[in-house]
Amino acid sequence: MLIEDYDLEVETIPCEPGAEKFAATVHLNVDISSVLPYLNRTLRGAVYNPQAPALSWKKGGRNIAFWPHKIAIGDLEDRTEAEKVAQGLVKLVNRTWERREEIEPDYEMHRRPGPVEVYKLLPQTNCKACGQPTCFVFAGKLVAGHVKLEDCPVLGEPQYAGQRAKLAELLNVDLPAIGSRER
Ligand code: SF4
Repeated sequence: MLIEDYDLEVETIPCEPGAEKFAATVHLNVDISSVLPYLNRTLRGAVYNPQAPALSWKKGGRNIAFWPHKIAIGDLEDRTEAEKVAQGLVKLVNRTWERREEIEPDYEMHRRPGPVEVYKLLPQTNCKACGQPTCFVFAGKLVAGHVKLEDCPVLGEPQYAGQRAKLAELLNVDLPAIGSRER
């Protein structure tokens, strides 16, 4: 096991009045630099900076950053959620490290696409079937990790198969079968 113990620091972050949010830092007593290229290979949408070294990742719209001796987590509801997310991330690091012989490490820095680039590949009908007011809003949320490709039902139509495949490549995500809502 790579991480056997850690200290969790939870703090409030400035937000809108009445909408208090928390950020947390998982302080580690071991250097996890060696696992970052393996996480870069396995985490969808991760951005690895080998110079730092650091790896940033968005999960469920939450920003996460892995550093050699700490993991920073943003957009948390409370301390209970911070503890749960921290525990999950420590498990993820340990599990990835244990599986390192099966994973080819990736030392490349992958670029995260911008909303305009993503918008250009969306159907641009502004039909609202995804629950968003426009395709551009959907593009912004897609980049931020708040929604998934499958949330746009129009992209599942056969005529958009090419655009859907390009978006999956751009966003570095796997596609479920057309018509499936599995995540
Ligand atoms: S469902 Fe797809 S096409 Fe319709 S508004 Fe949302 S992103 Fe645009």
